[in-house]
Amino acid sequence: MSTSLDRAGVVRRMRRFGPTIFAEMSALALRTGAVNLGQGFPDTDGPASLLADAAAAIGAGRNQYPPGQGEPELLRAVAEHQHRFHGLALDPATQVLVTAGATEGVAAAVLALAEPGDEVVVLEPTYDSYAAVIALAGAVQRPVALLPAADGSGRFALDREGLSAAFSPRTRLVLLNTPHNPTGTVLTRAELAAVAELAVEHDALVVTDEVYEHLVFAGAHHVPIATLPGMAGRTLAVSSAGKTFSVTGWKVGWVTGPAHLVAAVRTVKQFLTYVNAAPFQPAVAHALALGDDFYRDLADDLQRRRDLLREGLLAAGFTAGVPEGTYFVVADPRPLGFEDGTAFCRALPELAGVVGVPVAAFCSEGGPAAAATRPLVRFTFCKSDAVLHEACARLQALRRR
Ligand code: PMP
Ligand code: GLN
Repeated sequence: MSTSLDRAGVVRRMRRFGPTIFAEMSALALRTGAVNLGQGFPDTDGPASLLADAAAAIGAGRNQYPPGQGEPELLRAVAEHQHRFHGLALDPATQVLVTAGATEGVAAAVLALAEPGDEVVVLEPTYDSYAAVIALAGAVQRPVALLPAADGSGRFALDREGLSAAFSPRTRLVLLNTPHNPTGTVLTRAELAAVAELAVEHDALVVTDEVYEHLVFAGAHHVPIATLPGMAGRTLAVSSAGKTFSVTGWKVGWVTGPAHLVAAVRTVKQFLTYVNAAPFQPAVAHALALGDDFYRDLADDLQRRRDLLREGLLAAGFTAGVPEGTYFVVADPRPLGFEDGTAFCRALPELAGVVGVPVAAFCSEGGPAAAATRPLVRFTFCKSDAVLHEACARLQALRRR
């Protein structure tokens, strides 16, 4: 006999969430043999020294629960990284927390800091896990759009009017993401200052997801909002090893910020996973100290592949702006006669043997970015040259229809 619980399947506040768009599109790629430019994961491994360090840590028996806060060497390495790249001074013992990827860092922060009914300002398009965790917290999402700039550059810029309208006396958190998935925007100091001013005015906390902090291209500069005047005391920054070291499956992330906020996040985090990734933590600690040339080559190489894919998209008849950071380029298929990005993505394996992700999947229905992003498709360029060349060649089929 089925109960109402069986029929409902999941608690009411999660009922609007199906399988993630990334899982759906990766499954579609597998089923159809299409080139998968949907889910953002690299198809090559990270630095050899990192892989060797992890293997050595397993061999050396570092396979049991690490300390709840994280391995001390990783806590120190994260604090040193924040100082080296961003000039932020942190006490590794109290101001750094290791999490199961940035995903758990964001989830634990929202669950720790937002009461039911509190409002959370998010950028829209919004990374998919944010809406789910805000719903789990019983909090309310207040989206602010990133919209194609009026200058025709293709950059998605923060909607300043929408920003102030999204704040209210109920605003508890601002959940930022820069460099931004999926638009590739790196928020400017002026955009961040506008956010900071409103956060201070409303006494809101900021949680900032900076997983793409090192994937920033020529002409753009990543500014952590914690470095703006008055912001370090109200900001939790979240990052992870996944993107920086091309190990998205390791799920080693961290949260940094004021000790009392980090302690609040830890209170929740300890009951989500308690700890994770024991042998990977020392390996990531070593890798964070890699020389400047590693970080420079990472961004340069990715920028080259960004350009390769974007040229291919333009040659196939799309329009596309130039992303300032991340793994992703947003393309507009309207010049090819497609008005609906979701329908286009479902048809693309058949039409051209390629998979992308509709930007609409990152937007709430009727939300402030819904109309502008409806036709758009996100493609990832964190793939080998051979895969990108193959995808570009296949996309030419769209012209020949
Ligand atoms: N935040 C953003 C903006 C992302 O794009 C992703 C996906 N890579 C994550 C968080 C997830 O990071 P992690 O794998 O470290 O949980
Ligand atoms: N962050 C990756 C992306 O945006 C996907 C991660 C996931 O599948 N949840 O493509």
